[in-house]
Amino acid sequence: MNYPAGVSGNEYQIAGPDAYLEVTETVLCVNHDCKMFEVEQELEFEAEAYGGEISGNFTCPTCGTEDEWTGEVG
Ligand SMILES: [Zn+2]
Repeated sequence: MNYPAGVSGNEYQIAGPDAYLEVTETVLCVNHDCKMFEVEQELEFEAEAYGGEISGNFTCPTCGTEDEWTGEVG
């Protein structure tokens, strides 16, 4: 493959994440109308690891609002 200068082919947009994983993290609901708004809750959800960072979308089980969670590997 030929990539433009400065593009290695390992970029997230080309190569995708390093790994998919299940994480259990403490998250906060962002829905102001939810009774769990800004209340810490532990959820299990799917995330992607890339370049030392992990990100994934979680869904609040109370109101169904989705939000993105990001963290660091390790
Ligand atoms: Zn909620």
